[in-house]
Amino acid sequence: LDDNLAKLDALLVRFRKDGIRNRINGQDVGGALGRFQTISPIDKSVICDVARGDAGDIDDAAQAAHAAFADWRDMPARQRKSILLNVAAAIESRAEEIALCECHDTGQALKFMSKAALRGAENFRYFAAQIESARDGRNLPSPTLMNITTRTPIGPVGVITPWNTPFMLSTWKIAPALAAGCTVVHKPAEDSPLTARLLVEIAEEAGLPPGVLNTVNGFGEDAGKALTEHPLIRAIAFVGESRTGSLITKQGADTLKRVHLELGGKNPVIVFDDADLDRALDAVIFMIYSINGERCTSSSRLLVQDSIRETFEARLIERVNRIKVGHPLDPATEVGPLISKAHFDKVTSYFETARQDGATIAAGGTLPDDTGYYVRPTLFTHATNAMRIAREEIFGPVLTSIPFSSEDEALQIANDTPYGLTGYVWTNDLTRALRFTDRLQAGMIWVNSENVRHLPTPFGGVKASGIGRDGGDWSFDFYMEQKHIGFAT
Ligand code: NAD
Repeated sequence: LDDNLAKLDALLVRFRKDGIRNRINGQDVGGALGRFQTISPIDKSVICDVARGDAGDIDDAAQAAHAAFADWRDMPARQRKSILLNVAAAIESRAEEIALCECHDTGQALKFMSKAALRGAENFRYFAAQIESARDGRNLPSPTLMNITTRTPIGPVGVITPWNTPFMLSTWKIAPALAAGCTVVHKPAEDSPLTARLLVEIAEEAGLPPGVLNTVNGFGEDAGKALTEHPLIRAIAFVGESRTGSLITKQGADTLKRVHLELGGKNPVIVFDDADLDRALDAVIFMIYSINGERCTSSSRLLVQDSIRETFEARLIERVNRIKVGHPLDPATEVGPLISKAHFDKVTSYFETARQDGATIAAGGTLPDDTGYYVRPTLFTHATNAMRIAREEIFGPVLTSIPFSSEDEALQIANDTPYGLTGYVWTNDLTRALRFTDRLQAGMIWVNSENVRHLPTPFGGVKASGIGRDGGDWSFDFYMEQKHIGFAT
């Protein structure tokens, strides 16, 4: 821990001295609305000042992205590929710096953020590898025509990201957009702006031309809103809350914006009595208590079959009580502090909600004795799916356990939610797994596995969890236009 703190201190010197400025057309600029402060959730200290952008700053960035678009689009694919591979290599070489800053800014444990930084590099490497085929079309001949389809980059795009794993999520959107040939204006989350600054710096140093990636910091209601309304911005890739997703759809309506929305979840993990219970237990714990439970794909509702409920919950309680809560830079820490006071107040308010609704707080539900926004990993049992703790996205290390007796009942409970991002099914009955996954309302389902992301597969949700998919070729479908050309034969 001491070693990491010393390294972090050295890394923060520049942020303390210069703050974080917006990056537009390869230049550092201030924000028209002045500055705001980013706070570390570890001890509530001010990390640094951040430029607060407005509609004028967004306009400057959109103009820069527009001006840079033609050259970036027309740059030979091989040259763009080589720049993006350089970005991947540069991220790898600065992965420790990225991870340490991310932990300090978000409260996420280093144990998980060092992997997230490397996944950022992998996002660039994967989409760079697809560049040469991104524009490939299909020949769909008819009796009188040779029909060719091609794909061309849609134009400058806006990327709006949340605070939970900001670096990884930003690269997940920005890498395919750049690989498709689009230029980007990025509006990072106001609660965790540090690593977005590192990303634009790394990208420019690795050879990305000025104006191809621009970063405007600020709040959703001014910089974010202006980005979604800007006429030069052709599409918005958004990750965040469901209600913000609806706002963005409305704001983008006048300019007919294409939107991809990755939103919230209240994802079920269903454990049947014939499952491998040791593996299921590990996965249940990992999928709600890693990344502070501040994870859209977390399994926050445990649906456990009556016949095994008592033993499974007893083993769960014992494990949850052993989870190490602590300083995010301590390599042994599993759960760090929550992002902000507002989020801490929201998460902890559910302890009282659970009591009032008649659930049992079987583990946690209390605060460790610390100065930051820490909460103990929490498990609610004896819950029903009608309770608020089962219906609302808490977005913290808080799990709600609900019993079921039959497969039909499990399915009914699992689908009885406004959300539909992920689902996790644990059973050794293959026929049941096929039947169940076919009826489960979710964009992504894993059977006998925790969430294992494979970049070529589609990512996204149904219902209030989002619109659209990215991942693999789906990302290019979003950042590119399909064009049909018919040649008379
Ligand atoms: P949020 O919606 O409050 O903010 C996300 C971003 O949107 C921020 O950059 C914010 O400034 C911006 N924003 C806010 N209002 C805006 C507006 N009117 N116009 C344009 N931009 C606006 O979300 P959050 O609290 O930062 O993140 C947590 C949420 O993100 C959770 O609901 C979580 O489930 C979701 N999330 C989803 C995924 C996914 O892939 N589905 C991944 C991570 C997080």
